[in-house]
Amino acid sequence: MQQERLKVLLDEEILAQRVKAMGLEIREVYGDVPITVIAVLKGSFMFMADLVRAIGGDVKVEFLGVSSYHGGTRSTGAVKITQDLRHPIEGQHCLVVEDIVDTGLTMDYLRRLLEVRGPKSLRVATLLDKPINREIEVAVEFVGFSIPDEFVVGYGLDLGELYRNLPYIAVYTP
Ligand code: 5GP
Repeated sequence: MQQERLKVLLDEEILAQRVKAMGLEIREVYGDVPITVIAVLKGSFMFMADLVRAIGGDVKVEFLGVSSYHGGTRSTGAVKITQDLRHPIEGQHCLVVEDIVDTGLTMDYLRRLLEVRGPKSLRVATLLDKPINREIEVAVEFVGFSIPDEFVVGYGLDLGELYRNLPYIAVYTP
């Protein structure tokens, strides 16, 4: 790990506070209904684990494996499903949990992919948002933090599969 290339952007305490608040906000919006949380792998695994604990109530957990980066630091726009959902989502209230929305291409693709499966509702929660890079307008109902146009790692986000285990989010400078 090249520690000197990392600069902390969001520390553990700030992440914990915000994720807790997002969970409460999400549960308030849904009310008492069961929620099917769909974690977009791999980047959202840590966020999702903390978020579902903060949401509380009846929650089902599903995983959708997506690869959009192929190890570099720039988006290619090409989305590959590496692992599909194990169960149908028809008639269920679904919440897609993503690590970061950048150009919006991945989320636009995922929303369309999931909408055709007939969920009762479909919303998106992302920990991070880089609105400045948006190439396509896509609905994101819950945003943790809006961040500037910098490449970040940690708390699930990787660079070439490394750095996911950092407990904080850091800007990576090549
Ligand atoms: P989009 O399709 O919105 O451009 O990109 C979404 C995906 O690109 C995210 O799920 C994430 O995997 C990756 N991505 C975008 N920005 C960053 C970043 O700053 N750091 C990391 N590690 N991945 C990013």
